[in-house]
Amino acid sequence: MRRAIAAAAAIALTLAPALAHAQDTPAKTVLLRDAETEQLLRDYAAPIFRAAGIDARAIEIILINDLSFNAFVANGRKIFLNLGALMEAETPNEIVGVIAHETGHIAGGHLARLRDQIANAKILSVAGMLLGAGAVAGAMRSGDKVGNTGTGAAGAMMGGQELIRRSLLSYQRSEEQAADQAAVRYLRATGQSPKGLLATFRRFAESGMFRSKAIDPYLVSHPLPDERIAQLESLAKQSPHLEAKDPPALQARHDLVRAKIYGFAARPDTVLRRYPGHNASAPARYARAVLAYRSARLAEALSLIDGLIKEQPGNPYFQEMKGQALLESGRAREAIGPLRRAVAASPGAVPIRAMLGHALVATGDPKLLDEAIRELSNATQREPETAEPFQHLATAYGRKGNIAMAELASAQAFMNAGDFKMAHTQASRAMAKLPPGSPGHVKAEDIMNARPPGKI
Ligand SMILES: [Zn+2]
Repeated sequence: MRRAIAAAAAIALTLAPALAHAQDTPAKTVLLRDAETEQLLRDYAAPIFRAAGIDARAIEIILINDLSFNAFVANGRKIFLNLGALMEAETPNEIVGVIAHETGHIAGGHLARLRDQIANAKILSVAGMLLGAGAVAGAMRSGDKVGNTGTGAAGAMMGGQELIRRSLLSYQRSEEQAADQAAVRYLRATGQSPKGLLATFRRFAESGMFRSKAIDPYLVSHPLPDERIAQLESLAKQSPHLEAKDPPALQARHDLVRAKIYGFAARPDTVLRRYPGHNASAPARYARAVLAYRSARLAEALSLIDGLIKEQPGNPYFQEMKGQALLESGRAREAIGPLRRAVAASPGAVPIRAMLGHALVATGDPKLLDEAIRELSNATQREPETAEPFQHLATAYGRKGNIAMAELASAQAFMNAGDFKMAHTQASRAMAKLPPGSPGHVKAEDIMNARPPGKI
């Protein structure tokens, strides 16, 4: 089961080079990893999944580096959410509403066509298409290109793959109604207001009057006729929790995540208009800290982050941001302290652990290699589909003189990045050195047997 999940999760990466080549589209980071945002979304989703009778551990919420508003379900257990959705949502309740609606699709077993494709063992290429060309997973970083494939650039991106993706993802009208009804039910059962859900769909209805349906991905995959809004309104009005508000602590986390995403993804002038220098709130300083670090103004970034850390010493994400800013500015040794504190405060956050491992390797200090291997092994065991932590693990093993394990980690990095040829080369070298029957040997053998996903 675990391996099946790992294989499915790897699809995003594995198909990327072929697609990028075929469409001649420049690669960009499509899937984002961010521990803070992921934890917030898990916390939004957990009560909804419980109300829907779905095992939260079976569902993954994946962030897409796209500024248009979109969310969709693939594979019956992955909810994809665009950065743009989080940027537009004023309250947790609006995102919870979207998650409730998507959960309604999952619980209802919708998207039968997609399931058929999966049953035909073509899941790899299907998911590759869902994610578009050049899908590469990575952390939010200062140099990242942020995409906007759903709106302005839609014309250029509207290749054959995009059309197939949309037809695969478009729901039947009856499925939309069922998902809405289920969403309202889950919100009611969890004592949450349906207002956010309604606000989101109203926003779409209004924008739909001005924008062509063809360029709004959310409208294409979730058709929104007027009567649907009217039905949703009457359902919402019956809720005893219509006036319920999000808990202040959750709203505060939402505001911080939004500020961070703006800081990373929005144009600098947009960030400063939204979070101007005279705004002394924590989210505003967070957004400006991210903008400063992204603009290579490290001293300013550190001063803002240190202020935030002083106010919230237990917040792992402020420590992580400090560590990330230092690491990416070439100050790996100084990054270790904040990253160790971030891991201690949030031991389950795999992206932070991977960053700590990276920083430990990047110091070049042999005394830190054992800790690096420990952290990176932990991270890659929990998330075996990632590529970059395996690269750092390979470096750490190589410096320790453990060439077989370095080759194995390197093989995994190549496979997860979609380069099967190099993966096979490295795996065969590792196999020649590792004792037959050992876990490493078995893993190398698996990689030797792995093949790139076929075309649909
Ligand atoms: Zn829908």
